[in-house]
Parts: sequence; structure tokens; C-alpha cells
Amino acid sequence: MQIAKDTVVSFHYSVATAEGELVDRSQEGQPMTYLHGQSQIIPGLEEALAGHGAGESITATIPPEKAYGSHDPELDLRVPMSAFPPEAQQHIAPGFRFEAQHPAKEEEKVVFTVHGVGAAATGDGQEVALSGNHPLAGQTLLFKVEVVEVRAATRDELAHGHAHGPGGHHHH
Ligand code: ZN
Repeated sequence: MQIAKDTVVSFHYSVATAEGELVDRSQEGQPMTYLHGQSQIIPGLEEALAGHGAGESITATIPPEKAYGSHDPELDLRVPMSAFPPEAQQHIAPGFRFEAQHPAKEEEKVVFTVHGVGAAATGDGQEVALSGNHPLAGQTLLFKVEVVEVRAATRDELAHGHAHGPGGHHHH
């Protein structure tokens, strides 16, 4: 069976940046499983996998616009701690995430991650470094993929819009 819309695909992968830095890989014996055609994986990888079958090895070079998007400098911010509501300030620490409006595009919601808290460069108080860019934004990614299994999605999987376990019998 070939990878196409409404198939469930299991695959092993490793992904590196264009500079060769390993970003992520599947664990031995635990392939990644997804329902094809539902945008559950990045668009460039979904395109690269289409038409292939179990046992095939694929390499794909995926540009940022088909991976995690371009890097938006307007989303790398330093703001005073006092800009946050008092009840939120105690939670502001590296790794804290929250959704807010894009600073330049009114219609767009962005998930920001706090990267650091330090003394403000000017004035007193603290300053918060945060970014609304995905850590892999702006990166061209090199995927090496080995397709393990391709099967038709079950009725439940199609109704739910995602893949279940290897046999399609995963319970939520
Ligand atoms: Zn489900």
C-alpha cells in the first residue's frame, strides 16, 4: 500500500539542521505514527512521504516555509516585567508559555515562550526575554525516513482525525 490520504503511516526518522546538528530522532522500536492528509506532521515531510511504501528509505530537504516557518524578528522581544499583570509575574520563568497577539499583526495569535528573566538594561526592575518563534523557525531541515508500515485508517481513526495505536485500537 502506498502512502496517500487516509492511510496510517509508521516511520522511523532522524532530522538535522542544514549545518548537520541532530535535532530529533525516533526511538528504537517506537516509530512515529500519523494519519496522512490531516496536517499532523510538517507539510514538507507529508509531501515527501506521499506515494512511498513500507520498507522504503527517503531523504528530504525541507525549507522553512514547509517546516516550522520563517524566523520573524518581530517576535523576539524584551519587555519589562511590569508589562505583565501582577498575578502572572510569579509564573514568568524560562520555559513559561502563553498566547498573545502578534505585536505587529492584530489578527494573529502567537504562542510565546519565556527564555530568560534578568535585570533591565535601563531603569530598575526586571526584563523578560521571550520569543514567539518556533525553535526551528528559519531552519532548513534534513530528514532521513524509513517507512515501517502503511495501512488503511480505521473508521474510528477517520472519525477522530488522528492515528491510534499500531493496530488502530488505541483507547483515549
Ligand atoms: Zn481517537
